[in-house]
Amino acid sequence: MVKKREFGIFFLLFMLGLFFAYIYTHITKTKNDIFERIQNHQIEQISYILQNIEIDMLDTSEIITTKDMFSMFKKEYVRAEYEHIISLMLTSNVKYVYILYKDEQNRFRFLLDASKTDKANFNQKFDVDSPEYEAVFSTKKPQVIQQNDVENLYLTYLYPIISNGDVIAIFNIDITTNIQKIILESIKPLETFFVVLIIFVLLLMVMTILQIFHYFVTRRKIFTDQLTNTFNRNYLEETLPLLNLSNYSLAILDLDKFKIINDTYGHRTGDYILSQTSKVFKESIRDNDILVRYGGEEFLLLINNRDKAKSALDICERLRKNINKERFVYDGHEIRVGVSIGLHKYPYLEKNFQEAIKIADKMLYIAKKGGRNRVISYDEKESTENSSSSGDISFVKEAIDENRVICHYQPIYDYKQSRIFKYEALVRIVTKEGIVIPPFAFLPQIKETNMHYKLTQRILLIVFETFKNNNKLVSINMNFSDLINSDIEETIINNLKDNQHLASRVTFEILESDEINNIELFKQKINLIHSLKAKVSIDDFGSGYSNFKTIIDIEANFLKIDGSLIKNIDISAKDFKVVKSIIHFARQSNMQTIAEYVHSEDVYNKLLLLDIDFMQGYYISEPKEALIGEEELFQAL
Ligand code: GH3
Ligand code: MG
Ligand code: MG
Repeated sequence: MVKKREFGIFFLLFMLGLFFAYIYTHITKTKNDIFERIQNHQIEQISYILQNIEIDMLDTSEIITTKDMFSMFKKEYVRAEYEHIISLMLTSNVKYVYILYKDEQNRFRFLLDASKTDKANFNQKFDVDSPEYEAVFSTKKPQVIQQNDVENLYLTYLYPIISNGDVIAIFNIDITTNIQKIILESIKPLETFFVVLIIFVLLLMVMTILQIFHYFVTRRKIFTDQLTNTFNRNYLEETLPLLNLSNYSLAILDLDKFKIINDTYGHRTGDYILSQTSKVFKESIRDNDILVRYGGEEFLLLINNRDKAKSALDICERLRKNINKERFVYDGHEIRVGVSIGLHKYPYLEKNFQEAIKIADKMLYIAKKGGRNRVISYDEKESTENSSSSGDISFVKEAIDENRVICHYQPIYDYKQSRIFKYEALVRIVTKEGIVIPPFAFLPQIKETNMHYKLTQRILLIVFETFKNNNKLVSINMNFSDLINSDIEETIINNLKDNQHLASRVTFEILESDEINNIELFKQKINLIHSLKAKVSIDDFGSGYSNFKTIIDIEANFLKIDGSLIKNIDISAKDFKVVKSIIHFARQSNMQTIAEYVHSEDVYNKLLLLDIDFMQGYYISEPKEALIGEEELFQAL
């Protein structure tokens, strides 16, 4: 994920920069070393000469004190003699050589000056400005004064003339040489070369840093949802393969009744609330949890489980409570929000991440149905057993045993006469906590098991009981394997055979699918229904495989057109055409048509253009526990 190449280049440049800087300092150090060696060499040579002169001076003249020196050099011919000897030292590099002494007032004066130019007189005062002059006397050792000239070597060498252990005078030699300049000139291009190299490497490093920075900024943009400043789906897709899912629990968060906020205060308020709630979400989670805006007002949260102190459920509860506490203020309105959360603690146990999402989503659905503003966690036991179906089977079995299976009824509307034509019975299970669970949360898992028949049988009994004493019509869902089950057949016969009043009001909605492997048996069972004077409806027609011949053969009374063809009919001309031809086919075969999934006014109005017989869907009414009347229709939106 991290741009490894750029980091590699940066590291390489950094090392290269260090290497060049090392070479550069090494060159400078070597240069100074050479200077020092030259200096020492020159001083060494001069020292030898001075030593000889000193010996000669002291030996021949029996000089013991400064006074003796003074007396000796007072004589002009002595001065001339020594000037001559000393002047032999003069070269192009050594221009000034003189002998100084310190008088009684501690002032320095000339005893002798062997220089060819700017020659001083005997006993002329000499102003000293360096502490080294005094140091020669105190240390009795030669001293070197470095003059401030970078290019040329320019130094003064002070050499003590010692007699009886005292410094009685000093030699003062000024040395200059341009050797340093020559060395500097030859090294300069090399130094410049490395300075340029270092600058170049530094520039490259800056460019690489900028590129890395740019990469992270763009990456942030691509992976961040602008409104909520949380991660978006791109991030999830990118990160998922790199995540060790076993470290995470998965929660889906959905704001409660958010549409109402939009409808009441406007979309901008809605946006504000969304951004503020995600802020609260972010504050309620930890750094290693991952919050993703998954849909409009739906978030996906990956909760890191490595911190055992807080369980995923604790985090979800904390998050829910924090949202509850908050009072959002926008445009002077104080708005409170609730959040429902579906939690799957062990998503890694599922086949894939999508499956885990599905389960968390189911839990969210249950949370919504259970009254919203709550956390519903997928049962740990079921998950650790790694067999969701065995969990679901016992869940359904318990519900049947404890009479917690109920039906909700959704009206099928006869718009031509503005009345409810009949009700479709839809199974629900009520949990021990009183939460109503929809069929998709348990039906697929018990499909083809004995529990499925038991459940269908229970539904039949509930429906027969509910409708036996009224005049309303009802549809019951059944699949092929239900239909050929002998217990179910027995229940149907027992209840309908001698009760024509009930039987004539019952429709069996049967899924016509490739599961029907024995057409003859299928026809036989349909005929049984017909013989009882009950009706047959083909469910989900158009959803996939459809055998027109079988459908015509079984003489179904109704054809329910699959929701997938209806839900976009207001915008899809193709779906409209398909539905139109299905209706035509149904007419030809003496079947009445029902459109399901009528979820909006637009879909409803579009269907009015077709000669459909009945309509069903959330726009007309959701499934309700009670058998509602016409006055309760069209209330949802
Ligand atoms: P509940 O989840 O409790 O069942 O009710 P709900 O009203 O939240 O239900 P639903 O999920 O159907 O509605 C979500 C609404 O969120 C629909 C849409 O108008 C709104 N929505 C989605 N995305 C945004 C957005 O980015 N900004 C705003 N202001 N609203 C959004
Ligand atoms: Mg919502
Ligand atoms: Mg939603």
